[in-house]
Amino acid sequence: MNQKTIGDKSMDQWKKEFPLLAEAANLEEIFWVNPHYTGGDRGIRECGLSPEAMDDASARFARFAPFIAKAYPETEKTGGVIESPLREAPKLFGGLTSEFLTKEVPGRLFVKCDSHLPISGSIKARGGIYEVLCYAEELALERGLLNKNDTYEVFGSDRFRAFFNTRELAVGSTGNLGLSIGIMGAKLGFKTTVHMSADARQWKKDLLRSKGVTVVEYEADYTIAVAEGRRQAGPHCHFVDDENSKRLFLGYSVAAFGLKKQFEDIHITIDASHPLYVYLPCGVGGGPGGVTYGLKRIYGDAVHCFFVEPTHAPCMLLGLVTGCHDKVSVGDFGIDTKTCADGLAVGRPSRFVGPIMDYLLSGAYTISDERLYQLVYHLANLEDLWLEPSAVAGFMGPINLWSSNPGKDYMQRHPGADQAVHLVWATGGSMVPPEEMRKYYQTGKALAQASRG
Ligand SMILES: *Cc1c(COP(=O)(O)O)cnc(C)c1O
Repeated sequence: MNQKTIGDKSMDQWKKEFPLLAEAANLEEIFWVNPHYTGGDRGIRECGLSPEAMDDASARFARFAPFIAKAYPETEKTGGVIESPLREAPKLFGGLTSEFLTKEVPGRLFVKCDSHLPISGSIKARGGIYEVLCYAEELALERGLLNKNDTYEVFGSDRFRAFFNTRELAVGSTGNLGLSIGIMGAKLGFKTTVHMSADARQWKKDLLRSKGVTVVEYEADYTIAVAEGRRQAGPHCHFVDDENSKRLFLGYSVAAFGLKKQFEDIHITIDASHPLYVYLPCGVGGGPGGVTYGLKRIYGDAVHCFFVEPTHAPCMLLGLVTGCHDKVSVGDFGIDTKTCADGLAVGRPSRFVGPIMDYLLSGAYTISDERLYQLVYHLANLEDLWLEPSAVAGFMGPINLWSSNPGKDYMQRHPGADQAVHLVWATGGSMVPPEEMRKYYQTGKALAQASRG
């Protein structure tokens, strides 16, 4: 018997009242439609972020573009804008539906390849880098280092680096956030420390150390790594708090501006009769939450966002279903956060993202590790797209919508399902070393062959 109580209920009461929670506790793959989702812009109005905050974030990225273009030559061709490719994947759509479904699914499938974002190769290149830039700008202004007419190229100067070297940055991470903060922090000259949870891959630690970043390793999970990082941060240290950072969130949200432009460039219309369905892998929720917020700001009711989490770490889903958000952890339901999706191996959702998603999110689903591996394999074969396990989780989205009763019901209640544009957010992978990628692929191949019998 689990005697723990969360909110006003024991674990058994929760499971009885919401059978979905019992299924989640049994590590089953589930699909959930958010009953609190109302559409409209209520969530945007009530979430406590000012409408200008996103524009402000976009303007800050633009100010830093000359510095980024110079510091990272791979961004020269975009003028220092950190953006990822958007690509349509028709063959993939057919291949996946025939693999996992018997019938065809209407609409078009696009992939947002944040896996190929410059600088750190994951969605964290948006939020993580943004927060480091915010901090650097704030310090430079405070110190009077920045003159009004300076281009931000000066952030790469020895003078700035010497100053930033007297300041510290720290973060707790399962890997990818650490990479983003570490790479950008070290580039600017900050003394940077990354507190890595046990899930973090060795190559990420090695890469950071090669850039002069201090990596502290924990045998414990992400929550502990964050708590330790926060505790150890001294007065001259800026701790990037992934569990509660508005700056990270806003850095992610700006993705929506870039996406809108990309759809316009290829003449794809998003409106009430051509709705956009977006599938986002979720860890603490900052990345997918920020993107959802941005998309809702831009497309309103024409966009429907779904989160996906591993069956072994469905923290946002538990927070939303119970309404207890960061007061509930997957451990409370006997779930262990052990998953091959290291970017999503999180036991407790962000404190402030959950309550916002309560309004804005259409639903969420979970996915098993076995299926993640298989998706890695199918994506490589069908689309030559090489992603890490965390990053493929969204690809079941359209299939789950069309194959589950709550999913079908959701689509029927909203217009334009037959002309939907499905967008899977592929959140990471281009920096994974080839030998690691081959292991993921081989595991997926064996599982795919076994499942075909
Ligand atoms: C971090 C991460 C996510 C999820 O972002 P959160 O802000 O933790 O929700 C998704 N995919 C990958 C590859 C990640 O590294």
